[in-house]
Amino acid sequence: PEPAFTDINSTIRKTLKFASQHRGSKNIEKKLELQEDLPPVYVDPKQIQQVLLNLILNAMQAMHDGGTLTIRSAFEKKEQDWVLIMVKDTGQGIPAQILEKIFTPFFTTKAQGTGLGLAICHKLVSQHNGTLTVSSEDGKGTEFIVSLPALSLQF
Ligand code: ADP
Ligand code: MG
Repeated sequence: PEPAFTDINSTIRKTLKFASQHRGSKNIEKKLELQEDLPPVYVDPKQIQQVLLNLILNAMQAMHDGGTLTIRSAFEKKEQDWVLIMVKDTGQGIPAQILEKIFTPFFTTKAQGTGLGLAICHKLVSQHNGTLTVSSEDGKGTEFIVSLPALSLQF
């Protein structure tokens, strides 16, 4: 890994631009709601791009017949500072009994799926001392939240 001080908003913009060239992207409305003035995160930007790309492609695949993809960034102050990235779709959602398996390597519900995307996302985010969580409403849509430790630059 090659960590660097990274502006998450620019990582999000780049990844969305790349994903929008994918043919699954048509019929999907994209919304970006990026928080200004986020603190930097110290991450490998390529690995975080890979995480976001996986989440975005999954979201697009969940919206065959169109829908809305919303990507947000936010700052969260708890015991420590966090930068959050939310990837939300209006796809078919994930039933509760499936939800607990989606991070397991090789678990897929797709005919051509590898089941590796989310397992890799989970591992990459964990290696950055972050968390990857999901909430989903069957029939309505799904939201993944990537939380990364923010750098508080205090001198
Ligand atoms: P793959 O995409 O190859 O199936 P993933 O690890 O990326 O593997 O995803 C595992 C499973 O999680 C998918 O097969 C699907 O059932 C479910 N899933 C992931 N993201 C979404 C989403 N945004 N909406 C609905 N289901 C999803
Ligand atoms: Mg996938």
